Amino acid sequence: MLTKRTHSADETRALAETLGRAALPGDVLCLRGDLGAGKTTWTQGLARGLGVPQSEPVNSPTFTLLSEHRTARVPLFHFDVYRLEDSRGLYDLAWDEYLDEGGVVVVEWADKIADALPDNRLDIAIVSDGGEGRALTFTPHGARAEALLEALAP
Ligand code: ADP
Ligand code: MG
Repeated sequence: MLTKRTHSADETRALAETLGRAALPGDVLCLRGDLGAGKTTWTQGLARGLGVPQSEPVNSPTFTLLSEHRTARVPLFHFDVYRLEDSRGLYDLAWDEYLDEGGVVVVEWADKIADALPDNRLDIAIVSDGGEGRALTFTPHGARAEALLEALAP
Protein backbone atom coordinates (compact mmCIF):
# COMPACT_ATOMS: atom_id res chain seq x y z
CA MET A 1 0.00 0.00 0.00
CA LEU A 2 1.20 3.50 -0.83
CA THR A 3 -0.37 6.88 -0.12
CA LYS A 4 0.42 10.03 -2.10
CA ARG A 5 -0.89 13.51 -1.45
CA THR A 6 -1.56 16.05 -4.18
CA HIS A 7 -2.42 19.73 -3.86
CA SER A 8 -3.96 20.52 -7.26
CA ALA A 9 -5.70 18.81 -10.15
CA ASP A 10 -2.57 19.18 -12.26
CA GLU A 11 -0.50 17.46 -9.60
CA THR A 12 -2.95 14.54 -9.63
CA ARG A 13 -2.74 14.41 -13.44
CA ALA A 14 1.07 14.43 -13.31
CA LEU A 15 1.12 11.55 -10.83
CA ALA A 16 -1.26 9.56 -13.01
CA GLU A 17 0.77 10.34 -16.13
CA THR A 18 3.83 8.80 -14.47
CA LEU A 19 1.87 5.64 -13.80
CA GLY A 20 0.44 5.69 -17.32
CA ARG A 21 3.90 5.68 -18.85
CA ALA A 22 4.63 2.43 -16.98
CA ALA A 23 1.27 0.77 -17.68
CA LEU A 24 1.04 -2.29 -19.90
CA PRO A 25 -1.74 -4.06 -21.79
CA GLY A 26 -3.96 -5.95 -19.36
CA ASP A 27 -3.45 -3.60 -16.40
CA VAL A 28 -6.69 -2.88 -14.50
CA LEU A 29 -7.03 0.23 -12.30
CA CYS A 30 -10.02 0.47 -9.98
CA LEU A 31 -10.91 3.94 -8.73
CA ARG A 32 -12.93 4.67 -5.61
CA GLY A 33 -13.92 8.04 -4.19
CA ASP A 34 -16.89 10.37 -3.84
CA LEU A 35 -18.25 12.57 -6.59
CA GLY A 36 -15.62 15.23 -7.28
CA ALA A 37 -12.83 13.26 -5.60
CA GLY A 38 -10.77 13.31 -8.79
CA LYS A 39 -11.31 9.94 -10.48
CA THR A 40 -11.77 11.49 -13.91
CA THR A 41 -8.94 13.97 -13.32
CA TRP A 42 -6.68 11.00 -12.50
CA THR A 43 -7.80 9.22 -15.66
CA GLN A 44 -6.97 12.31 -17.75
CA GLY A 45 -3.36 12.17 -16.57
CA LEU A 46 -3.20 8.43 -17.03
CA ALA A 47 -4.43 8.84 -20.61
CA ARG A 48 -1.59 11.25 -21.37
CA GLY A 49 0.91 8.74 -20.00
CA LEU A 50 -0.58 6.03 -22.21
CA GLY A 51 -0.16 8.29 -25.21
CA VAL A 52 -3.71 9.46 -25.79
CA PRO A 53 -3.22 12.69 -27.79
CA GLN A 54 -3.80 16.05 -26.04
CA SER A 55 -6.49 16.82 -28.61
CA GLU A 56 -8.62 13.89 -27.44
CA PRO A 57 -10.80 14.85 -24.45
CA VAL A 58 -11.08 12.40 -21.55
CA ASN A 59 -14.37 12.86 -19.69
CA SER A 60 -16.43 10.77 -17.28
CA PRO A 61 -18.49 8.36 -19.39
CA THR A 62 -21.32 8.67 -16.87
CA PHE A 63 -24.09 8.17 -19.41
CA THR A 64 -22.36 5.88 -21.91
CA LEU A 65 -20.56 3.94 -19.12
CA LEU A 66 -17.56 3.38 -21.39
CA SER A 67 -15.20 5.51 -23.49
CA GLU A 68 -12.61 3.87 -25.68
CA HIS A 69 -9.36 5.62 -26.52
CA ARG A 70 -7.69 3.46 -29.13
CA THR A 71 -5.26 6.02 -30.50
CA ALA A 72 -2.89 5.53 -27.56
CA ARG A 73 0.32 3.47 -27.31
CA VAL A 74 -1.81 1.15 -25.21
CA PRO A 75 -5.60 1.47 -25.72
CA LEU A 76 -7.49 2.92 -22.76
CA PHE A 77 -10.92 1.55 -21.84
CA HIS A 78 -12.45 4.01 -19.40
CA PHE A 79 -15.51 2.74 -17.51
CA ASP A 80 -17.72 4.79 -15.19
CA VAL A 81 -20.20 2.40 -13.58
CA TYR A 82 -21.90 4.95 -11.31
CA ARG A 83 -25.24 4.31 -12.97
CA LEU A 84 -25.10 0.53 -12.58
CA GLU A 85 -27.00 -1.07 -9.69
CA ASP A 86 -24.51 -3.91 -9.50
CA SER A 87 -22.22 -6.02 -11.66
CA ARG A 88 -25.11 -7.71 -13.52
CA GLY A 89 -25.30 -4.62 -15.72
CA LEU A 90 -21.80 -5.38 -16.99
CA TYR A 91 -22.96 -8.19 -19.26
CA ASP A 92 -24.44 -5.63 -21.65
CA LEU A 93 -21.09 -3.85 -21.73
CA ALA A 94 -19.02 -6.91 -22.72
CA TRP A 95 -16.90 -6.27 -19.62
CA ASP A 96 -15.10 -9.63 -19.77
CA GLU A 97 -14.10 -9.01 -23.36
CA TYR A 98 -12.59 -5.62 -22.52
CA LEU A 99 -10.51 -7.25 -19.79
CA ASP A 100 -8.93 -9.47 -22.47
CA GLU A 101 -8.69 -6.84 -25.18
CA GLY A 102 -5.04 -5.85 -24.65
CA GLY A 103 -5.67 -2.39 -23.26
CA VAL A 104 -5.55 -0.68 -19.90
CA VAL A 105 -8.92 -0.78 -18.13
CA VAL A 106 -9.86 2.01 -15.72
CA VAL A 107 -13.08 1.83 -13.69
CA GLU A 108 -14.61 4.77 -11.83
CA TRP A 109 -16.89 3.70 -8.92
CA ALA A 110 -15.29 0.25 -8.93
CA ASP A 111 -16.91 -0.59 -5.57
CA LYS A 112 -20.24 -0.90 -7.42
CA ILE A 113 -18.97 -3.94 -9.28
CA ALA A 114 -16.66 -5.36 -6.60
CA ASP A 115 -17.58 -8.98 -7.32
CA ALA A 116 -16.69 -8.61 -11.01
CA LEU A 117 -13.22 -7.12 -10.54
CA PRO A 118 -10.26 -9.31 -11.50
CA ASP A 119 -7.96 -10.70 -8.80
CA ASN A 120 -5.01 -8.86 -10.32
CA ARG A 121 -5.59 -5.13 -10.21
CA LEU A 122 -4.48 -1.86 -8.70
CA ASP A 123 -7.03 -0.27 -6.36
CA ILE A 124 -6.85 3.51 -6.01
CA ALA A 125 -8.91 5.32 -3.37
CA ILE A 126 -9.08 9.13 -3.57
CA VAL A 127 -10.15 11.25 -0.60
CA SER A 128 -10.61 15.02 -0.78
CA ASP A 129 -9.77 17.34 2.10
CA GLY A 130 -12.60 19.64 1.01
CA GLY A 131 -10.21 22.00 -0.76
CA GLU A 132 -7.60 21.14 -3.35
CA GLY A 133 -5.85 18.49 -1.30
CA ARG A 134 -6.29 14.82 -2.15
CA ALA A 135 -4.96 11.66 -0.54
CA LEU A 136 -4.54 8.85 -3.05
CA THR A 137 -4.09 5.38 -1.56
CA PHE A 138 -2.83 2.65 -3.85
CA THR A 139 -3.39 -1.01 -2.96
CA PRO A 140 -1.87 -3.49 -5.40
CA HIS A 141 -3.37 -6.95 -5.88
CA GLY A 142 -0.95 -9.31 -7.58
CA ALA A 143 2.67 -9.12 -8.70
CA ARG A 144 1.99 -7.06 -11.81
CA ALA A 145 0.16 -4.35 -9.84
CA GLU A 146 3.03 -4.26 -7.35
CA ALA A 147 5.50 -3.78 -10.19
CA LEU A 148 3.36 -1.04 -11.72
CA LEU A 149 3.19 0.79 -8.41
CA GLU A 150 6.98 0.96 -8.32
CA ALA A 151 6.66 3.67 -10.98
CA LEU A 152 5.37 5.90 -8.17
CA ALA A 153 7.91 4.92 -5.54
CA PRO A 154 10.21 7.82 -4.59
P1 ADP B 1 -14.75 12.40 -10.04
O1 ADP B 1 -14.50 11.79 -11.37
O2 ADP B 1 -14.13 11.64 -8.91
O3 ADP B 1 -16.21 12.65 -9.78
P2 ADP B 1 -13.52 14.76 -11.15
O4 ADP B 1 -12.14 14.37 -11.52
O5 ADP B 1 -14.52 14.85 -12.24
O6 ADP B 1 -14.03 13.82 -9.96
O7 ADP B 1 -13.51 16.16 -10.42
C1 ADP B 1 -12.55 16.53 -9.49
C2 ADP B 1 -12.63 18.04 -9.34
O8 ADP B 1 -11.78 18.46 -8.27
C3 ADP B 1 -12.15 18.75 -10.59
O9 ADP B 1 -12.92 19.93 -10.76
C4 ADP B 1 -10.71 19.10 -10.24
O10 ADP B 1 -10.24 20.25 -10.94
C5 ADP B 1 -10.83 19.40 -8.75
N1 ADP B 1 -9.59 19.23 -7.99
C6 ADP B 1 -9.09 20.14 -7.13
N2 ADP B 1 -7.97 19.70 -6.55
C7 ADP B 1 -7.74 18.47 -7.06
C8 ADP B 1 -6.72 17.50 -6.83
N3 ADP B 1 -5.70 17.68 -5.96
N4 ADP B 1 -6.79 16.34 -7.53
C9 ADP B 1 -7.82 16.11 -8.37
N5 ADP B 1 -8.82 16.98 -8.63
C10 ADP B 1 -8.78 18.15 -7.97
MG1 MG C 1 -15.77 10.97 -12.85
